[in-house]
Amino acid sequence: MKKIREFMKVCKLEFGWIDKNTFGLYDFETKRVKISLALALVDIFIHEAIHEFNPNATEKEIIKKTARKLNRLTRKDIKEIGRFIWACFENELKLYIQKRKADENETQR
Ligand SMILES: [Zn+2]
Repeated sequence: MKKIREFMKVCKLEFGWIDKNTFGLYDFETKRVKISLALALVDIFIHEAIHEFNPNATEKEIIKKTARKLNRLTRKDIKEIGRFIWACFENELKLYIQKRKADENETQR
């Protein structure tokens, strides 16, 4: 963990799309770490969806099926799923912020 902590101090994080098979990239010269948050989220979501479609499959099988499915999806499909996840996330975030504000008002009274 010590090494990772040191790296966290010097790296530069960047978010954006790379390609269908790349979750992240590292540039040694600039110490830039690019993370494809969209692909990571879509991968997790498809993994869970495949659990739904294959209730008796083992975790190993699900991981295999997820990779296969992700390979077959088009950029457009991934975008659509990504937008769905993001909309749900934004909703959650709004509710969370509302709740926090309500809690703050509660303690100020
Ligand atoms: Zn699983």
